[in-house]
Amino acid sequence: MTGEAGATELTRYGRGRGRKAWTGMRIDGLTEDELAAAWVAGYERGGDGWFIGRDPREMTQAQLEAMGHEPISPMQAIRAKCLDCCAWSSDEVRKCVALACPSWPFRTGKNPWRQEMSEEQRKARRQRALQSGLGSRRQARSASSAAASVSEVRDDRLQHRP
Ligand code: SF4
Repeated sequence: MTGEAGATELTRYGRGRGRKAWTGMRIDGLTEDELAAAWVAGYERGGDGWFIGRDPREMTQAQLEAMGHEPISPMQAIRAKCLDCCAWSSDEVRKCVALACPSWPFRTGKNPWRQEMSEEQRKARRQRALQSGLGSRRQARSASSAAASVSEVRDDRLQHRP
């Protein structure tokens, strides 16, 4: 997602624009082509003669993309849903008073339950990954040179602090 304009395109409304809706249509009487089109659009046969949504756990990424979805993080999905809920007004999302809504703590696009890692924690994590054989020598060199650059920049900033 790139900015709020992009987020608006990710909303249910944005995705639904110009798309044929099969919701509320009985399956009986549809042609094979119509059934195939509904399947590509994200519907499948329910047990009672009506369409239900397909199970995303059984879908490929290409099938999701064919529906108009794109790879986004769960945080971006929550943000887009909140914008959808507030008629695409980020100001309204910010002011939302539905305090019991499960999405409420996430609505500004940041996970408040995840603590930011310090540079030391990041470095230790890189080292652990490298020691467990997940990284190549090249990655090890690049990690240590990146860590060195970060400390040089930090030292430089500290020295030049007013
Ligand atoms: S947190 Fe507020 S804006 Fe987000 S989905 Fe819930 S009610 Fe809507």
